[in-house]
Amino acid sequence: MRVRVRWAGERTGTITDIACFEPYEGDPTPPTGHTGEFEDPVTGIVAAARLDYTYSPGRAQTAYINALSGRRTVGERCPACRKVYVPPRGACPTCGVATSEQVEVGPRGTVTTFCIVNIKAKNLDIEVPYVYAHIALDGAGLALHGRIGGIPYDEVRMGLRVEPVWTEGARYPDHYRPTGEPDADYDTYKELL
Ligand SMILES: [Zn+2]
Repeated sequence: MRVRVRWAGERTGTITDIACFEPYEGDPTPPTGHTGEFEDPVTGIVAAARLDYTYSPGRAQTAYINALSGRRTVGERCPACRKVYVPPRGACPTCGVATSEQVEVGPRGTVTTFCIVNIKAKNLDIEVPYVYAHIALDGAGLALHGRIGGIPYDEVRMGLRVEPVWTEGARYPDHYRPTGEPDADYDTYKELL
């Protein structure tokens, strides 16, 4: 059955401009090409978007989160390559095997690399500039992130030894500060950048 659009009496630029489709046996309207040019092109729109996630941490990360409430950091060691994952995901992505041996790491660690943050984040009460770093906790096979405090931002360096600083009731360290130990030798963390 051939049909054509019956347009609404008053058009507003929305889908309701199409009142209905009606039978039509006349010649089909030949398609007309479009140049791709628009008189008043739309170059951007603002769309309010929000995504809510319900996240199930699973066995390995549940143990990690529960240990954090006791101010301990617990990872899992791969039975094949012996790498200790922190936070643990329950498997070694390199070897493709499940991990189950829990290993406590830290609390001290080494700054493996870092950046100086100069942009103030919305809803974050931290004065800029500050330093955000990759920190390899002692015994961990990869680095995690953390803010570095207790030292001028331009004195933070690779190899700096740090320890976590907890605030009352927190579930994870607020930041890491220097321990005063000598800097770690590059060879001890060069695989953990
Ligand atoms: Zn492995």
